[in-house]
Amino acid sequence: MAEQPQQLRATYNDVHKLIRESVKRIADFKPNLIIAIGGGGFFPARVLRTFLKDPTTNKDIPIHAIGLSLYEPVLGVTPERLGTEVVRIQWPASAKIFLGKRILIVDEVDDSRTTLQYALAELQKDVNAELQKLSESERDKNHPEFAVFVVHNKLKEKVGKLPATIPYYTGAEVPDLWLAYPWEAEDIDEHDRLAALQK
Ligand code: 5GP
Repeated sequence: MAEQPQQLRATYNDVHKLIRESVKRIADFKPNLIIAIGGGGFFPARVLRTFLKDPTTNKDIPIHAIGLSLYEPVLGVTPERLGTEVVRIQWPASAKIFLGKRILIVDEVDDSRTTLQYALAELQKDVNAELQKLSESERDKNHPEFAVFVVHNKLKEKVGKLPATIPYYTGAEVPDLWLAYPWEAEDIDEHDRLAALQK
């Protein structure tokens, strides 16, 4: 019997093509701001920007970065907290820049969904605090809309939840295996060679 792969290898071209194929669906949401969850969301966000323009201005969409860690050890965090809590590595000083925007949150993979739930809930909390500073009429005009895009969604029971009202786009649904991404590879030629063998 053939051995099952322990991990799935994605190449830069695989990721690029999945994003290109997803763009038609994402364009319906008309995003005019991207929030990339780092570090895995950075490359996908940049590729997405190649295919999406701000429909109101026809300009490149700005990309903001947030840094969250669920798996990586972070100084000052006890091992018990890791894996059950998301830790902020980088976070916007003010959510004012998000008011009135159509925001696409981008990450490379939706695994347990903990990170996405945290990112969305915390961004909404910060945005609501900014909205409270506005008059009632201004508030109505400045509610941002959120959507989520991930390159890969692992088919598994999710720990985190996203509201059903939030548009959710994915490049591909994949089995619950570890995904090896090209930007994590130290030897990209070897990564590509193994990815080709896997196909
Ligand atoms: P979550 O479990 O919160 O959905 O995923 C948290 C983060 O863990 C993701 O943003 C991603 O950076 C990392 N992660 C989860 N599963 C994988 C995987 O299969 N491969 C890689 N490279 N990172 C993963």
